[in-house]
Order: sequence, then structure tokens, then C-alpha cells
Amino acid sequence: MDYQKLAQRYDTPLYIYDFNQIKANYNALKQAFKARKSLIAYAVKANSNLSLLKLLGQLGSGADCVSIGEVRRALLAGIPNYKIIFSGVGKRDDEIAEAMEKEILYINIESEAEFHRVEEIAQKLGIPMRIGVRVNPNIDPKTHPYISTGLLESKFGVDIPTAQRLYLLAKKSPWLEPVAIHFHIGSQLTDLGPIKEASQIVADLARQLHRLDIDIRFFDVGGGLGIRYKDEEPIAPYDYAQAILSTLSGTDMTIVCEPGRFIVGNAGVFLTRVLYEKETPAKRFIIVDGAMNDLLRPSLYNAYHEVEVVGKEGEGRPADVVGPVCESGDFLAKDRPLPPTEHGDLILVKSAGAYGFAMSSNYNSRPRPAEVAIEDGRDRLIRERESFEYMIEKEVRFL
Ligand SMILES: *Cc1c(COP(=O)(O)O)cnc(C)c1O
Repeated sequence: MDYQKLAQRYDTPLYIYDFNQIKANYNALKQAFKARKSLIAYAVKANSNLSLLKLLGQLGSGADCVSIGEVRRALLAGIPNYKIIFSGVGKRDDEIAEAMEKEILYINIESEAEFHRVEEIAQKLGIPMRIGVRVNPNIDPKTHPYISTGLLESKFGVDIPTAQRLYLLAKKSPWLEPVAIHFHIGSQLTDLGPIKEASQIVADLARQLHRLDIDIRFFDVGGGLGIRYKDEEPIAPYDYAQAILSTLSGTDMTIVCEPGRFIVGNAGVFLTRVLYEKETPAKRFIIVDGAMNDLLRPSLYNAYHEVEVVGKEGEGRPADVVGPVCESGDFLAKDRPLPPTEHGDLILVKSAGAYGFAMSSNYNSRPRPAEVAIEDGRDRLIRERESFEYMIEKEVRFL
């Protein structure tokens, strides 16, 4: 990849996505589940760029959405309503109503209170709604606490006795049609044990529900498949699928899988330019034009991203790669033995396709970076760099 050319053409900081890699990732996971009917419902929150959603839609992907904004994005990108799922702990009434009117595949319910809201709204609209219940299997996924969601102390899902009760209530309700069962124990999972354990617990519950004549047709295993940022040993898609499939004997539910990071994480890089080097007796800093507002993961999770200086080899004094934002937590990498750099050098931050642009903000009045797709050797802009005017549009008219 000619990063110099891309930086010249689109300026920095810049997100660059390899669409061929995204296709390959999608196909690998789809293929892994081929023993059964499956729907890969891409988790839109990982990277919600419309062109990227369109690409996935064309491959046959559905969408797992956590706001009505994401549902609208998915539809706009051509993903059909019957492949769209609406999840999340805090859905507003208007979001629930719109999802019903758009006749999406199902809503994943995360609490008893939400269950009653959804029933009431369905009744009011006169639209019976398909639902799933997110079950919390109380499994420790052994990942970062901020992205761990499967323990009873987490805000997500309901415990098994509550789930059983909700399914029975749904069965009796003329306004709710329980069609799915859902779990999602965390993100960046690299250990197969907890996934298999959770799947077993939820599959047993599904079998119980089948015996009670509750027709659960979708076994929704959430996302969470980890990728390699540094030296992790990611789970192979085939092993992941086998672990889940092995818990489903005697049922013929369709698997719904909601990968986000796995599809886009390693298919994206963040390109930034060196502004200055600053050396003190205590430390070496490489100050770049990208910052925590563009790529938050290092600051938020102390996440590791590999970095390299484009076109320069060798090692130098360990340096922190930091941005211009006025926070000591504003860094992209810490203590990396990078070669000496000069003003204008390019720094590549790898594995930035997931939860990169999607978590970006305008903090410090910094316009969000542009996004570029590379497909079959050709590059094209898929989101324009934000302008100052765009940033102030919603407030300037009140002056
Ligand atoms: C975040 C999330 C996902 C995607 O997680 P990844 O780790 O990116 O695969 C899938 N399903 C639900 C319900 C989520 O909250």
C-alpha cells in the first residue's frame, strides 16, 4: 500500500479500510457455520460507515444495531429489514416503535421493564413484534472489564429464571412473538472455553423452551470474536463455530452471529503525520496530528495498537506516540522503540478498523478524519474529512 500517495491525496489523519480483507473475514465466518442455517448480522457499532455497510449487505450480511440510528444506516445501505436486529439495554419508546414499523427481524430485550414497554408499544401500534431475550449466562469471558458483559454484575441481559418467565409471558401475549434467544458475553474474546460454556447454558434453556412449545428459531450468539492486536492467539472461525454447533444437537435453530471487531478490526489502519519530536531526559515523545478524539481505544482501554514509521526501519529510544489533545491520557502508543522521525513522516497505526472512527469525537474542536476504502487496488473516499463549518453548524445560527 502506498501510504505516501494516500496521505498526499486525502491528507492526514486518515482511516484506510481494506474492503477485500473485510470480504475475506465475512466469508471465513459464514463458511465456518456452513453446517447449519446462519445469519451473520454485522455489529454496526464497530464501524458504521455506509459504504462499508453496503459492502457487507451485498455479501449477504445482516445488521445488529444498538440504536435506531444504526437501524436507519443499515436500511439506507441496502441491508433488508428481515436481516436487522435491534439490541441494547436502553431503547427509547420512539426507537422501539420505529423498529416495529420498519418490520425488522426481531428486538432483543434486555430487562423485564423493557419487555413490558415493547408489549405496550406493539399493542398501541397494533403490530405484533418478534422478540428475543438476552440471557446473561453468568460467565467470565476473561477480557477487559469495560468490554465484559456476561457476568451477573453487568448491566446487560437478564438471568435465566427471569428469561424463563419472560418467555412464558411472551407466549401468552398476542403482541409478542418470542423467536430468538440471545447472549453476548463480551468483546475481544480469545478464549474458547467461556463461549462454549455460555452457548451450552443458553442452548439448554432453548431446549427447555422448545419443550414448552415456545418456538425459538434463532440462536443468537452475539459477537465478541477477538483479533490479534499484539500477540494474542485469536480463535479460528472454524473452532468458534464448532464450539457453538456442538452445543446445539437435537435442535434446528438458525445461528445468528453478530461479529463487529472480527469483520473490520484488522482491515483498517489509521494514518497520521509526525508534527514534532520532543525529547527530555525522562522521555521521548513523537507528537502526531492524530489524537484520542480520532482513535480512543488506547486512552479508553489502554489498548495496544502496533505502530510503524512508514518507510523507516530500525529502532530508536522508546517513544510515546501522542496527539495534540490537552489530556495526558491522549496517546496512541507507549514506549515503542521507533526509529528517529522528522516533521512530515507518516505513522501507521494498525488494526484500527473497529471501534476507531466509530468512537471518534470533535473533542478540542478537531474535525473527524476522512475515511478511504481500498478495493481491488483502487482507493476511494467513503467519508469526507469534516470541516470547521460542519462542526459548528448546529450552534452558529444561535449567535
Ligand atoms: C458490541 C456487540 C457486538 C459486537 O461485538 P464485537 O466484539 O465487535 O464482535 C455484538 N452483539 C452485541 C449485542 C454487542 O453489544
